[in-house]
Amino acid sequence: MTEETKTRKEFNLLPSQKEELATKNSDNLKIGIFGGTFNPVHFGHLRTAEEVHEKLGLNLVLFVPASRPPHKNSSRIVPFIHRWKMLELALADNSHFSLSDIENRRPGKSYSIDTLRHLRKIYPKPNSLYFLLGIDAFQEITTWKDYKKLFELTSFVILARPGYNIRGTYDLLRSKISGYYEYDEENNLFSHPSLEAVHVCQVTLLDISSTRIRKLVSGGQSIRYLVPDSVKEYIEKTHIYQG
Ligand code: ATP
Repeated sequence: MTEETKTRKEFNLLPSQKEELATKNSDNLKIGIFGGTFNPVHFGHLRTAEEVHEKLGLNLVLFVPASRPPHKNSSRIVPFIHRWKMLELALADNSHFSLSDIENRRPGKSYSIDTLRHLRKIYPKPNSLYFLLGIDAFQEITTWKDYKKLFELTSFVILARPGYNIRGTYDLLRSKISGYYEYDEENNLFSHPSLEAVHVCQVTLLDISSTRIRKLVSGGQSIRYLVPDSVKEYIEKTHIYQG
């Protein structure tokens, strides 16, 4: 099976995205991976992915909704199919965004290490993987399954606000991952002789959360301008966050 066929089979790509991938040199792709619960997807997620795509020159940002996230209370999470449908609607008009259901096809909890191992088979080195992660989540990385292995498989992109203090990340990397991480100020990243780099990307962090959107809906208030209209209509039609 060719790389391209594997990729088409693996991901739910729209026709324009398939064409875009088909024209790329498949050994040298830069793929962003944006994991999350997306309950629901909102403009904070979309704007972040757009800015990281542009700043790091990525070919594609792959949204990977968690089926059963290990760190969240699952009783508040609507079924995967709804979160998937809303992502499909939200990503439809962006040719460099795509969507993967890898985590829904695996039984058990959705551990990032399993997803990354899987993606590495589809995109072996020298293709580059970039795992997008909010700074708060990054500070908790040592609670993740096989966290040290993650740094062999993927670069990280820490989503930071302007004024973010680099020191905390430096200390965490050197004390918990490897003492050989060095801060490269010019490129705003931490480099390592054998592990993958950890980038710091200043993005416009819109003050929007899925929690707030769910609360607004259940309180009968407007979510207009917080999510794409198509997502808003889906939520209204299905009543998934009512009551
Ligand atoms: P919840 O409120 O249900 O906890 P959330 O809005 O934080 O959800 P998630 O699906 O948990 O959304 O987040 C997925 C990823 O998106 C995480 O890495 C998180 O840091 C990032 N993220 C969430 N909200 C924003 C935002 N407003 N701007 C930028 N990144 C965000």
